Amino acid sequence: MPVTGWIEVNDHYCKGCDICVAACPPNVIALNMERLTPKGYHPAHLVSEGCTGCGICAIVCPDAAITVYRETPQRTRQKITVQEIA
Ligand code: SF4
Ligand code: SF4
Repeated sequence: MPVTGWIEVNDHYCKGCDICVAACPPNVIALNMERLTPKGYHPAHLVSEGCTGCGICAIVCPDAAITVYRETPQRTRQKITVQEIA
């Protein structure tokens, strides 16, 4: 199962500079032209599926406006008895 991720952009810090948009490898971020932050900027947001949670957007954001979340597949633990191995 592939690793999936998502981001949250803090409206109070985002200044619509576009740096995260250009840096995102799968191109899943864009500026939201239908919304303004309290400071009057178009904020970044996810526009499609495909975020891997790589964290590059958060690293390049000059205002630390992005929080990245990553969902990893759960490993299942299976108990194997000695009799089964032998
Ligand atoms: S890099 Fe940061 S400040 Fe610039 S658009 Fe992206 S989230 Fe907003
Ligand atoms: S975590 Fe990676 S894939 Fe997801 S939006 Fe940010 S740069 Fe793009």
